[in-house]
This record gives sequence, structure tokens and C-alpha cells, in this order.
Amino acid sequence: MKIRMKIVKSQKSNNCPSATQDLKLNTKNRDSAIRAEHIQYGPLNVKYPGDYWKDIAKYWNTTVKAAKASNCSNCTAFDISPRMKKCMPGKTSDEDGELGYCWMHHFKCHSARACRTWAKGGPIEKNDISYDWQRRNKNK
Ligand code: SF4
Repeated sequence: MKIRMKIVKSQKSNNCPSATQDLKLNTKNRDSAIRAEHIQYGPLNVKYPGDYWKDIAKYWNTTVKAAKASNCSNCTAFDISPRMKKCMPGKTSDEDGELGYCWMHHFKCHSARACRTWAKGGPIEKNDISYDWQRRNKNK
């Protein structure tokens, strides 16, 4: 009985993040990330970014080229581990990149977009690192 409970508990702790399974929650978290002054997730359309890269480059006090090279695809919170790919709703890549899970703002973000809280060190490509982010998020 004890062993069975342990297995159930460990399976539960490895569950997909709620926002990957709940469109309403994902949209709510994404919209908050778009609106929040300190996040500013975008651009909406990577082919028509408007002033997005210019604005974020100004925020980071850098060039547009450097800002464009600092996007979700190489952010420390961007999770594209094999286990997270299984949490995604089918095919999630296109000619611009792919969807992954953002552990900082809890929604499915696109590799070609960015935000003001970008941090060097990603993406997360290994299951054990992905589970570690999940465990640390639960402990908060
Ligand atoms: S993965 Fe990084 S850059 Fe992308 S939304 Fe999350 S924190 Fe921002």
C-alpha cells in the first residue's frame, strides 16, 4: 500500500503543467505576460513585429540584432524537453520555430518570441531539468 501511494505521488508530481492542458488558463497567463510592463511578451506576429524589437532593444540598452538573438528559444525558462513535448497539443512547430513551456510565466510560448525577463541559459532539453523546474515551482 505504501509503495503504491509513493508511485501515485511520484506520477502526480510529474504531471504536465496545468496551463499545457487548460487553454483558458494558458490564455490568461499569456495575456498577463503580454500586458505586464515588466514582461511584454511578443511580438504578436513575428513576421510583422512593428516596433517590438526596437523597443525591447532600447529596454536592454542594446542593438536590435542582439535583442532578436535573445528570445524564448535560448531562454533558461523555455522547456522543450521530450516529456514537455508530450504535454503539447499535437504538432507545435512552424517555419519560425516551436512552442515550449515557459516556467517563469506559465504558458506555452513560441521560440521566436521574447520578453523582458529573458535570461540566458536555455533551452531546457532534458527531462530531469524539466522536472527540477516543476519541483521548484511547486515549492514556491
Ligand atoms: S521563455 Fe523566457 S523569454 Fe520566453 S516568455 Fe518565458 S521568460 Fe520570457
